[in-house]
Amino acid sequence: MEVRVRQGDNVWYYSQLFQIPLQLLLDSNRGSNPTALMVGTVIRIPGYVLNRYTVQTGDTFWSISRKFSIPIDQLFLVNQQVNPNFLQVGQALFMPSRITNKRFVQTDGYDSTVLTTDLDQLTEAYPFIRRRVIGTSVMGKPIEEIRIGNGSKRVHFNGSFHAHEWITTPVLVEFINDYALALTNQTPIRGLSMLPYYNDVELSIVPMVNPDGVDLVINGLPTSEPYLSEVLEINDGSTDFSGWRANIRGVDLNNQYPAKWEQEVSLKPSQPSPRDYPGRAPLTEPEAIAIARLTLDSDFSRVLAFHTQGQVIFWGFEGLEPPESEVIINEFARVSGFRPIQYTDSYAGYKDWFIKQWRRPGFTVELGLGTNPLPFSDYPQIYEDAVGIMLASMYM
Ligand SMILES: [Zn+2]
Repeated sequence: MEVRVRQGDNVWYYSQLFQIPLQLLLDSNRGSNPTALMVGTVIRIPGYVLNRYTVQTGDTFWSISRKFSIPIDQLFLVNQQVNPNFLQVGQALFMPSRITNKRFVQTDGYDSTVLTTDLDQLTEAYPFIRRRVIGTSVMGKPIEEIRIGNGSKRVHFNGSFHAHEWITTPVLVEFINDYALALTNQTPIRGLSMLPYYNDVELSIVPMVNPDGVDLVINGLPTSEPYLSEVLEINDGSTDFSGWRANIRGVDLNNQYPAKWEQEVSLKPSQPSPRDYPGRAPLTEPEAIAIARLTLDSDFSRVLAFHTQGQVIFWGFEGLEPPESEVIINEFARVSGFRPIQYTDSYAGYKDWFIKQWRRPGFTVELGLGTNPLPFSDYPQIYEDAVGIMLASMYM
């Protein structure tokens, strides 16, 4: 919601008037100078929407504010063009309304279009959320990153590296939704007050690393060439893409990282495939490159890549993981019941590269049980498991 600054207003006053933490107000208005607000400046109030109210017989600003239990100055502020002494029946007023529910409910078929719509809604309602495009897919779709918080502990989550594990995307978006809601309402998540997290942690989230692949699994064949023909050829002529993990060119993005990539090549398909093909060289694919660049630029303290294969968490690479990794993985196991796996005979994954490059904690979190793509009826449990792990990654 937006308001226009009046004579004498300041952000500290708005923080009181709307009961929104000052830091969230400041971060929602990065372009303005909060200590010297000019009259008429537009200020965004996070966690509020403007509704319409139609004046009834006998209404005054005072009676309306009593009826809806909102401070009368909220009404004055958003109705500056209205003369409060001459309200007329049928006249339209603005009514500030605090957001107390999630902006949307996660749905089956969560493709790149749904993601864009949901991120539009979240950044509109909660302007302290920062959003940017970190790269584009082979087909030119944006790969988007969300950032929340100001802390020096930089925690990164990503989802949908693998196309048919797209259920990880709504998990990450719902967490953003819940986190923002908890911050603006100052309500806890699992008993934890979230504002200290906002000040301690800068959260970076890329909800959908592989938009082309996700759209292929959910919506079927692309309509444009050369993708239509190429994808059919890679899939042996079948239009069933439910087993597709790769990007649209048949490269497995989680086999693209320079961490024993040569070894991975010797174990995996040697040409484009619905799954496992590591590519001609490390980091040939724009989606893998976008995540690598982001990671190189961001000084992440730890990273969690979300996948869906069996309620386990991979946490080591060649003994290069720091001792801290073991402490964190034990907490992840405690909160989720997932089984930690230190080493496996798979290489060239994102977390492998992160551990190798920075010697910091990196995790591949495998949510859910069963054959991918998991049925959406599993979603509520998957989300519950993920929330515990995401919170732990912020407080550990
Ligand atoms: Zn996966």
